[in-house]
Amino acid sequence: LIEMRDVHLTLGRGPTAVPILRGVDLSVDGGRSVGVIGPSGSGKSTLLMVLGGLERPDAGSVRISGEELTAMDEDALTVFRGRSIGIVFQSFHLIPTMTALENVAVPLELAGVEDAIARARAELAAVGLGERTGHYPTELSGGEQQRVAIARALAPRPAVLLADEPTGNLDDATGRDIIELMFAVQEQRRQTLLLVTHDRSLAARCDECVRMRQGRIDTEVAA
Ligand code: ATP
Ligand code: MG
Repeated sequence: LIEMRDVHLTLGRGPTAVPILRGVDLSVDGGRSVGVIGPSGSGKSTLLMVLGGLERPDAGSVRISGEELTAMDEDALTVFRGRSIGIVFQSFHLIPTMTALENVAVPLELAGVEDAIARARAELAAVGLGERTGHYPTELSGGEQQRVAIARALAPRPAVLLADEPTGNLDDATGRDIIELMFAVQEQRRQTLLLVTHDRSLAARCDECVRMRQGRIDTEVAA
């Protein structure tokens, strides 16, 4: 489902140019969960940006569900991203002027989904926020905000969910709840999940675990 081949990306220009991804190869089968660990600065977040279609690599191939992302123009990439890829970040990235319901429903409407409001309500209920749909992000706890972000990411029923340190801004107990939720959803929907985390025990709960080191996938450290 995910196929990355010899992906290279240099960020910055001229003397400050730094090669961040230096030949990433990664294959993930549909429905699998993969934990991504590795030292700070090794390129984990950049890898997710490339997979999420938010950064274009300089070289290499990035395929999701058989579609070559590097061959798409901006419009095609935006549409593909909206339908096929969900992303959850450490900081929740909710739109502060929109309620929880609007944060989930508006992207669906933009993507042309019918019954966006009903779908958004169902997704919020599925993450345990059925009673909080009218709240604004500032009226929600961190854990609740992350649930909204997860509902928003999952609402289009994407083939792939990418999560970059999704519990990094949450206390331990709340973080555990969020992880349980993500794994439960992953199992229920046979979602493909890429989870970047500093927490090895968390990574070990995924079907596979890969380590990034200096811009490459290093070794498989768990099965
Ligand atoms: P962490 O575990 O700390 O989140 P990471 O593995 O996610 O680290 P990345 O955020 O992917 O690492 O960054 C990899 C490297 O790329 C870092 O050295 C970072 O400074 C550098 N970098 C990221 N964005 C840019 C940019 N826009 N221009 C130049 N360098 C960048
Ligand atoms: Mg990072």
